[in-house]
Amino acid sequence: MARYTGAVCRLCRREGMKLFLKGDRCFTDKCAFTRRSYAPGQHGQRRSKMTDYGVQLREKQKARRIYGVLEKQFRRTYEEASRLKGVTGDNLLMLLEVRLDNVVFKLGYGNSRKEARQLVTHEHFTVNGKKVNIPSYKVKPGDVIAVKEKSRATELFKTYVENPKNVPAWLESNIASFEGKVVSVPSREQIDTPINETLIVELYSK
Ligand code: SF4
Repeated sequence: MARYTGAVCRLCRREGMKLFLKGDRCFTDKCAFTRRSYAPGQHGQRRSKMTDYGVQLREKQKARRIYGVLEKQFRRTYEEASRLKGVTGDNLLMLLEVRLDNVVFKLGYGNSRKEARQLVTHEHFTVNGKKVNIPSYKVKPGDVIAVKEKSRATELFKTYVENPKNVPAWLESNIASFEGKVVSVPSREQIDTPINETLIVELYSK
């Protein structure tokens, strides 16, 4: 299971915005983007006008980085989105949102998608009673995501229960019983990730 292992704060600085990849640290003044809000590298502070292609490329990179997906997998997700009925851009975001690591994060486990991904790979969750440790696993309406019995008593999971998050309307969470349910697939309005998916579709349609 390949994943990005480089410095993550660089990614926010490259995209010119906070991507909230590091959980709590992102809300403190230790945030690298707050301290140096320009691109990393020797020429990071130079301002140059971006071409249309550059704008589209940056939007795609931003989406990949927010969801923690590598290029090949992102491309495959786009291809799957384009085969589905409806608007390709909306389908792309929907497919990214229903990844198990994202759903676990939205249900309140993990301070970042990266942390949620680790919880999934470390086999803390079941889907409909079966162990699933694949972050890219796609959940569907009716699926029940639960914390494994053995993991519930750990200090880490107790912390999540004590600090519940607001859950989007397409999910239902019962954090006290360590369970969540997928109510429906998310509509575009229910996805709050700051991505202009049209630019990504334009990039891949070239
Ligand atoms: Fe981005 Fe968070 Fe690092 Fe700030 S602390 S640069 S928001 S990952």
